[in-house]
Amino acid sequence: SHQIHIIGGGMAGSEAAWQLARRGFRVRLSEMRGSGETTAAHQGDGLAELVCSNSFRSDDDEKNAVGLLHHEMRRCDSLIMAAADKARVPAGSALAVDRDVFSAAVEAALAQLPNIEVVRERVDTLPGEGMAIVATGPLTAPALAGSIGQATGADALAFFDAIAPIVYRDSIDMDICWMASRWDKASGPESTGKDYINCPMDKDQYLAFHQGLIDGEKTEFKEWEANTPYFDGCMPIEVMAQRGVETLRFGPMKPVGLDNPRTGRWPYAVVQLRQDNKLGTLWNMVGFQTKLKHAEQVRLFRTIPGLENAEFARLGGLHRNTFIHSPTLLDRQLRLKSSPNIRFAGQITGCEGYVESASIGMLAGLMAASELAGRDWTPPPVTSALGALLSHITGDAEAQTYQPMNVNFGLFPPVDPSVKKKSRKEAYTARGKADFTPWLETLAPDLPTAP
Ligand code: FAD
Repeated sequence: SHQIHIIGGGMAGSEAAWQLARRGFRVRLSEMRGSGETTAAHQGDGLAELVCSNSFRSDDDEKNAVGLLHHEMRRCDSLIMAAADKARVPAGSALAVDRDVFSAAVEAALAQLPNIEVVRERVDTLPGEGMAIVATGPLTAPALAGSIGQATGADALAFFDAIAPIVYRDSIDMDICWMASRWDKASGPESTGKDYINCPMDKDQYLAFHQGLIDGEKTEFKEWEANTPYFDGCMPIEVMAQRGVETLRFGPMKPVGLDNPRTGRWPYAVVQLRQDNKLGTLWNMVGFQTKLKHAEQVRLFRTIPGLENAEFARLGGLHRNTFIHSPTLLDRQLRLKSSPNIRFAGQITGCEGYVESASIGMLAGLMAASELAGRDWTPPPVTSALGALLSHITGDAEAQTYQPMNVNFGLFPPVDPSVKKKSRKEAYTARGKADFTPWLETLAPDLPTAP
């Protein structure tokens, strides 16, 4: 019989299974595709199927956070990275793959391990006992989602994301913007009454911006997305704009109670940004969830006064996406606090992207392996991509506004501000790599010896 049950054979589940089985643990991997079931996005039955693009994004481990994540995963013997390297197709500095070769490589590697049993079955309830990893992804089948919702509370499980763009704090022009809360009201023990960054607009700027929202090119909902009822709570900003020219000024762009210190008056309209992580490096544009195309968002949002040079850690979006409220539900080892035999991994934890999902699957596998072996777990350093992403998910994200997140340098503790802006990315990756090596050694007794 198995020692650990992994549910979902996608990016995260396949990687977790690999990490555990290579270390000798007996794994049952349940995947519903291949048993007559599928999701709205998958096409076939292969493990680790890429549902959309064939890109793992930048492979640059000196200037790019996801490139650094690739690097760290390779150093941990990641199956997903090994399969991607095997399936690689030319794509400049990006890592893109032949999706069929990729999925087949994952399947073949897992099939070679005698202690993995891949079972084509749908799982409908969270396991009551025994160690488990839930890695059923953004399109978790409904019955299991219901069981998860029972364990977490319905409020802590989302079926849609409503992603407002996130801006790096150091790219906001504070000579134009100012910090204030409406009516200077403090909203809790940590509040100063000056919690928001406010970008002021005059009437002409507002009218032009309003028109820009209406005219901007949007991505369409897929049919299966448009038909779901969960969507009402998170209206895209451009849909609100379409309701009338004043709607936004009475909604998320409301200026009342916000004295601009440079004029002593309320602006005509305002865009507010709220802190998004404990480090204070990332700020989200409040109420700006949007289906505008990414290039359009960058163009239009840079017309907002103070955001002319904004750099975006994440652009807005709205998708069908099942994820749990990890910062409050999970402990630092990805265990459900209320049922610590269950770990969550992959996109359902609120990370975003193929690589991120696989990386959290990898960590869940390593954590479970160390627990099964009775060893202490040392978390990856927060200056590494793995550590930064894990910390964000398991507690450092601003819990109230938790939404899916890609890995980016805004999740890392800031490097010394004296480092020139143009060498900052290299400073992040150099520091991350230096700190990663000793951590890898804490893992070393667990790592298989090279063949
Ligand atoms: P998945 O890879 O989806 O794996 C979950 C697995 O669990 C699936 O195989 C599913 O069949 C299985 N499963 C679900 N429920 C059950 C159950 N009850 N019992 C048994 N098995 C079950 N990311 C990118 O980086 N680039 C993109 O272009 C991209 N496009 C996306 C497009 C869409 C439509 C969606 C929904 C997501 C996209 N993502 C993309 C986001 C995300 O990175 C991927 O969805 C990624 O595959 C998530 O990995 P995962 O392991 O968490 O989930």
